[in-house]
Amino acid sequence: MSAMTSQAVDGAPTGGRTLRIAHLYPELLNLYGDSGNILCLRRRMEWRGITPDVMEVRVDDTPSFSGVDIVFIGGGSDREQRIVCDKLLAERAEIRAFVEDGGVLAAVCGGYQLLGSSYLMADERVEGLSLVDLYTDHGDPRLIGNIVVESPISPQPIVGYENHGGRTHLGEGVTPLGRVVYGHGNDGVTGYEGVLYKNVVGTYVHGPLLPKNPGVADCLIARAMERKYGTAELGPLDDAEELAANQVMYHRLMAGEVRES
Ligand code: GLN
Repeated sequence: MSAMTSQAVDGAPTGGRTLRIAHLYPELLNLYGDSGNILCLRRRMEWRGITPDVMEVRVDDTPSFSGVDIVFIGGGSDREQRIVCDKLLAERAEIRAFVEDGGVLAAVCGGYQLLGSSYLMADERVEGLSLVDLYTDHGDPRLIGNIVVESPISPQPIVGYENHGGRTHLGEGVTPLGRVVYGHGNDGVTGYEGVLYKNVVGTYVHGPLLPKNPGVADCLIARAMERKYGTAELGPLDDAEELAANQVMYHRLMAGEVRES
């Protein structure tokens, strides 16, 4: 992936700083390259002299969120979501305290759905973490294909891929991640995609999300740096290749050059 070729432009020193990432259930929630998000966060920190400390939390672990700066939850099939659901609920109080304290949490698709109060699978409504005022129903057909979203947290359009049966409904006044300019998003009807709440970003965008959208990656890192060290200023990176890839996809989609199946 082109993100691997970036170099720090000015090598801005960050003085022995470390960010701890908790990657929840990587062995189950890992659709469409979602674990590439962790690789991207790692590299973009290292290129700036910030040490990434990645803690992989597996289903049989009992993690502590104290000292964690960024939580990441990827997407998965209903079967995998069902397996992690009870484990996640056991951590609800700790995760909620983390979020209310301004902790950074990024969740993709299946992980995003579990941030809400419930998720309706084919034959069962499972309880979610209730971190954000949203819930998810099931719909037919699945919403599948490329997606482009305009969001205030990214200077570039967010590009990626979605594949979900779930239709996510935001509560009154809840802020979406952005507006769908191509594809389906939360429910295929409202034109909204994802959610923003404090330092939580929930989205249906796989791809993986962060290597394709360096602005989103830097937003997460900057917010974690702000919370931990009181400075959100990140040294610039040479993102020429990432931005070229992002732009090519954006223009191909907007010009109708991609045939969605
Ligand atoms: N199982 C969920 C759905 O179909 C999430 C899928 C995903 O993470 N891509 O809606």
